[in-house]
Amino acid sequence: MDTDSSKVANVWVPVCCERVMRYNVFLQKDGTAYGSMVCTSCNKNVTFELEHVADLSAYGEGARVLSLLGSPKPPKETRRKVDGDAALSDQTL
Ligand SMILES: [Zn+2]
Repeated sequence: MDTDSSKVANVWVPVCCERVMRYNVFLQKDGTAYGSMVCTSCNKNVTFELEHVADLSAYGEGARVLSLLGSPKPPKETRRKVDGDAALSDQTL
């Protein structure tokens, strides 16, 4: 049986070029923040804007909010392929 210390949650890890993407949050002078996700290999970058109270209905029926594991120092190893069936069988979404 599970104990509290052994509980783990599934997270969605941003991957590009088989590496975990680097994620940094920047605070602007006007107080707003944004996140920037960058692939250290091909320099692809994605900007994330913070939404404090997201009205999910605006994103369509059945919209999901993802919990991303973002880090300014992601692991450098080549990312192993996750078993899709195992990951998708998680019913917590
Ligand atoms: Zn890349």
